[in-house]
Amino acid sequence: MEEKLKPCPFCGYEKIDIEKIDNIGTGLFMAICPRCSAKSGILENHKRVAEAWNRRSESKQCALAEMCRLYAEQEG
Ligand SMILES: [Zn+2]
Repeated sequence: MEEKLKPCPFCGYEKIDIEKIDNIGTGLFMAICPRCSAKSGILENHKRVAEAWNRRSESKQCALAEMCRLYAEQEG
């Protein structure tokens, strides 16, 4: 049973995808908006990705801060 994903906090698109990221090796997941490419953080399972996305969707401001932080971390 999949978690229901809230609409994209950036563009309002409702059909958010959760992608499995295989190239990292351990099976990680990420929510992504197909319309504007907004992404969630990368988490270890589908449920946690959905929860993180939904929390983010509730607060756009929070979303932006969190995404900047995540991108900064990925840049290393
Ligand atoms: Zn979007």
